[in-house]
Amino acid sequence: MLTSINPKNEEILSEYEEHHQEDVKDILNQSQEAFLKWRQTEFSHRTQLMKQAASVLRERADKYAQLMADEMGKPLAGGRGEVEKCAWACEYYADNAEQFLKNEYIETDASKSFVTFQALGVVLAVMPWNFPFWQVFRFAAPALMAGNAGVLKHASNVTGCALAIEEVFREAGFPEHLFRTLKIGSAKVASVIEHPIVQAVTLTGSVVAGRSVAEKAGSMLKKTVLELGGSDPYVILEDADLDMAATTCVNSRLINSGQSCIAAKRFIVVESVKAEFEQRFVEQMKQKKMGDPLDEKNDIGPQARTDLRDELHQQVEDSIRDGAQCLLGGKLPEEKGAWYPPTVLTDVQPGMPAYDQELFGPVASIITAKDEQDAIRIANDTEFGLGAAVFTKDIEKGENIAANELLAGSCFVNELVKSDPRLPFGGIKHSGYGRELSHFGIKEFVNTKTVYVK
Ligand code: NAP
Repeated sequence: MLTSINPKNEEILSEYEEHHQEDVKDILNQSQEAFLKWRQTEFSHRTQLMKQAASVLRERADKYAQLMADEMGKPLAGGRGEVEKCAWACEYYADNAEQFLKNEYIETDASKSFVTFQALGVVLAVMPWNFPFWQVFRFAAPALMAGNAGVLKHASNVTGCALAIEEVFREAGFPEHLFRTLKIGSAKVASVIEHPIVQAVTLTGSVVAGRSVAEKAGSMLKKTVLELGGSDPYVILEDADLDMAATTCVNSRLINSGQSCIAAKRFIVVESVKAEFEQRFVEQMKQKKMGDPLDEKNDIGPQARTDLRDELHQQVEDSIRDGAQCLLGGKLPEEKGAWYPPTVLTDVQPGMPAYDQELFGPVASIITAKDEQDAIRIANDTEFGLGAAVFTKDIEKGENIAANELLAGSCFVNELVKSDPRLPFGGIKHSGYGRELSHFGIKEFVNTKTVYVK
């Protein structure tokens, strides 16, 4: 049974019967049949349907925002924004897929030689709860436009969202089985990967889940794309605009109530401006209101699940035990629900969870650096490599640090790291491999085929 629990009060919202092994096989067979017809369709047809998916999303933005608030605690404004971003991605790929996948002609000794991009087939997507619509659409929009079919194994706590996404594609007019939701827990993922119909797997989630899926897919020689955790460093240099830096850093740390892979997690501040930055940062963290995600006045809702909230609190307590100072928050609220307050830890050092691990919630780690080079060294002193940002008034210097010094998939200057359908997104090191979005994303699940005509 898959259970949706409202994290603000721990009440059960719905229980869903899981698909049995035979149901899963039937769905995979139906998806394969749908794929075989879909791959023959013209881009103009796919474009029309993908634009319709964008319209369905926009029409239902309020309903889906409410669903996300109920299932995983996302404040309504964030949910509406997320649905709009999905619609944007659908339109972006509707408009650009054909151009991205057009044949590339290359001069050789052949009379004609070219590269053509062919859909792979049924792709399995294992997805997390934190952006329950966006994570799925940023996979599905390019994958379907390229001619693939998709089967979704969503996080067990957001089955309502998973079924709603299936409904979007159906109501937009896509063939019935081209995009299906599998109602299964994580224990059944391995058997889906093993199924011969499944050609490739994409997973967004934790390092542990990524490793397990990659192992299984590797043993079956199936391609994977992995979007995993992050501990994004934001470097604040001596010449930074400290007001702007503090505001941007707070906003990034608290995106999605702190539960974003690309939320800023470590704030590395050059010693000479540490006190000034810290004072501004704590002041702004204090202003953020935590409360009912359905009340538009609140900035952050509950965490998505109480077990994850408890893990986060343990990381905070262990860091404090090891010498971190707690400047704000850090206490478990007494009321029922997965609540966790905005929290600021400073004097964070290597060996503490707040330095070494991902803190997936509204907890900021402030780390002091001696100077610019030391700050860059600390920023890169992590097993992750998803995003990073640097704050400086010297734009040329910032650009050089972002381009050449910070080790991450996306490096921003004087701005918070964010995803955008036009730009590639993904990580290095334990943050995963492969890219989503842009023309790079749509080429992950295609056969890059050489054609040579003598
Ligand atoms: P999670 O526990 O790894 O779950 C993600 C998905 O993987 C869920 O569908 C889950 O199913 C499934 N899963 C878990 N263990 C598995 C296993 N051993 N084999 C197969 N499937 C498995 O992650 P989460 O707690 O939902 O999400 C938080 C993590 O995702 C954070 O680390 C965050 O940084 C990362 N994330 C990364 C990105 C990115 O783009 N890089 C974006 C968002 C989130 P069940 O729910 O049934 O367990």
